[in-house]
This record gives sequence, structure tokens and C-alpha cells, in this order.
Amino acid sequence: MARAPGSAKALLERLVAFDTTSAKSNLALVGFVRDYLAGFGLEPTLVHDETGEKAAIYVTIGPSVEGGVVLSAHTDVVPTAGQAWSSDPYRLTARNGRLYGRGSTDMKGFVATVLAAVPDFVAAGLARPVHIALSYDEEVGCLGVRPLSRHMAERVPTPQAVIVGEPTGMAPVNAHKSGYRIETVVTGREAHSSVPAWGVNAVVYAARFVAEIERLGERLAALPATDPRFEPPCATVSVGEIAGGTAHNIVPSLCRVVWGIRGLPHMDVPALVDEMRDGAEARLGAEMRAQGESCGLDTRIVSSILPLKPRENSPAEPLIARLTGSSAMAAVSYGTDAGFFDAVGWPSVVCGPGDIAQAHKPDEFIAEDALTDCAGMLARLAGELSG
Ligand SMILES: [Zn+2]
Repeated sequence: MARAPGSAKALLERLVAFDTTSAKSNLALVGFVRDYLAGFGLEPTLVHDETGEKAAIYVTIGPSVEGGVVLSAHTDVVPTAGQAWSSDPYRLTARNGRLYGRGSTDMKGFVATVLAAVPDFVAAGLARPVHIALSYDEEVGCLGVRPLSRHMAERVPTPQAVIVGEPTGMAPVNAHKSGYRIETVVTGREAHSSVPAWGVNAVVYAARFVAEIERLGERLAALPATDPRFEPPCATVSVGEIAGGTAHNIVPSLCRVVWGIRGLPHMDVPALVDEMRDGAEARLGAEMRAQGESCGLDTRIVSSILPLKPRENSPAEPLIARLTGSSAMAAVSYGTDAGFFDAVGWPSVVCGPGDIAQAHKPDEFIAEDALTDCAGMLARLAGELSG
């Protein structure tokens, strides 16, 4: 048995030092976690991606029976490029009760606190298991949790709850929106700009399509709010990227619009996208094709993050209420890995230390108190599963 490592703070220092920006490999961090867990006689499982450069890792502490609790987090972080940091983002820096570093809040602070609780979980003589599940590529579309959740669902006895430790300030969350990334490619025809009518201006049609996206957003905002807990309480659209054209004197033949819809949990977003595609086809596509056969618009969903749908009588809710002392369930507008665990039939909630307002920003920090609160929750969890 390895010597018990230090506190959550010391572990957080180690975790922050691994640059696990989503574009990079996370294997060094996963190797560290694997060795740490093995030091307690545990046998973690790695689930690699197809490149072999990334892996998810999970482990079961306690008996392999139903009714356990999964503590879930992602290992990747968002880039620091272009951000003005007051200290090295990959070197945990303590100032005034706060721990600064990339991922301190989102969400290595939670990972560190969970790892620091491992010796207590091992010593607790659990009657039902704690499972720790760490994914990759959450920040670029919840990619790692997809194979991880499927892999675990086939091998791990059904838990009563998955707790995804995203920074909610330890407030239990039982619902979040879906997130769809959508791409519309507008194909026109090039011409000399001195006679614009010889061409079909892809940028102009893209602009008209963007105006239609705006109108969709207005329509969604006008729908009656089915869940006023969301901020805002409606589905939203956002145009994130637009690129087209090469010079002022060439009628552009190509324009690409990348946009998104954040849907309410029970909303059929693909049907909305179909509606947009059909509407654009009728209003813009037909007009474009009348000027040239190969002209038109093509809209497709590039990727999607599943929503977390509140469940009737979810066994996760009374559990998280006992652990946090808060029976009020909140809803958030950002996506998490929770929707994918929920989709394999595992009741899921989101609850973790820190403030989402800190996430993705320069000088990201987590308050030391927040880690202490989280450690308290994990200690209560050990008690809950020992009985
Ligand atoms: Zn996160």
C-alpha cells in the first residue's frame, strides 16, 4: 500500500500541472490517476479513444453490486491562448483563500477532492460502491463520455445515482439544456463584381439565412416558459461563426455559417433544424437555384450534447438532497456529461464545487472553502453507502 498522499489541495496542484487542453493527450494525467488508485489496491479500467492518445478511466471502490454512486468528471480543460493570466495557469497558485489555475473550477477541483477521499472510501467498508469515472473531450462536445458511459453500462451494476461534479456551488441540478452545433453551407456562383447579376452571392444569401436564425430565436423566446428555472427560460439560438468570400471585387461563391441551438430538455431540436432547412429551401434555396442549378443551402447537425431531463421519482434526487442538505433542484443552461449517463439509464444529477462564472476565464480559481464543502459531501456519501 502506497503512502497516503496529501490533501485535495496537493492533488489539485498535480492535476493542474498536466496541460490537458482538449486538443492534447490526457494520458499523463490518466496515468497519474491510475497509479494513485492502484496505490490503494484498486483496479482502474482505461477506455481509450480510437487514436490511443486519450483515455477515460473508471474504478469501483467497494463491492460490485447495484445501488452505488458514480462520481463523474472530465479531465480536459479549455485553452489559455489569448487569455491574460496573472500567474502560470498550469501552476496552482494560492492567493487569499483562492487556488488559481486552469481547470481549478472546471473541473479538476472536484477530481482532486474525490481522489483525496479515496482512502476514506476504501477504509469505510462500503456496502454499496463508489465509482469514479473521468472522461475526456467534454469541452469539445462531450465526446469521451459517450464510449465511457456505454462501456460502464455493460459492466458496472446499475448505480442509484451519477453525480457529475461540474461547478454548481454544491447546488443540486436535475436538468440542463441540450446543445446542438449546426452548419449551413451556402453555395453561390462567382462572378466579376462589376456585373453582380452574373453571379449568385453566397454571402448575401447567408446573411438572409442568419436573419432567419434570428427570427427562430425570437419565436423560441416567445413560447410559454415550461421550466422557469432556466436562465433564460427558453431555448436559444446563437450564430457563432461566419466565413465567406475572398475579395471585394469577386461575387463570393461560398459562405459557411456555424450556429447553435440550446434546447429545453424535452424539445425536439432536430425537428426544429428540419423546419429551418425546409423554410430556407422554400424562401432562399428555390430562388438561388433559379439562378444556377448548383446553387443552394445545405444545413446539417454537426454534433449534439444530450440534455439532462428531470426524471419522475429519480433515486438520485433524494440522495443528493441528503448529501447537500438542499432539496431544491436547480436547472442550468450549459451542457455536461450528465445527459449521456442519463441516456444509458443511470439517474444523474449535477453538483460540484466552485462557480461556473469562473470557468473558461483567465485567472480561473476555486475557493479553498469550496473544496472543503465538497469533501464534506463526499464524507457524507461514504457514510450513506456504508449503512
Ligand atoms: Zn466542465
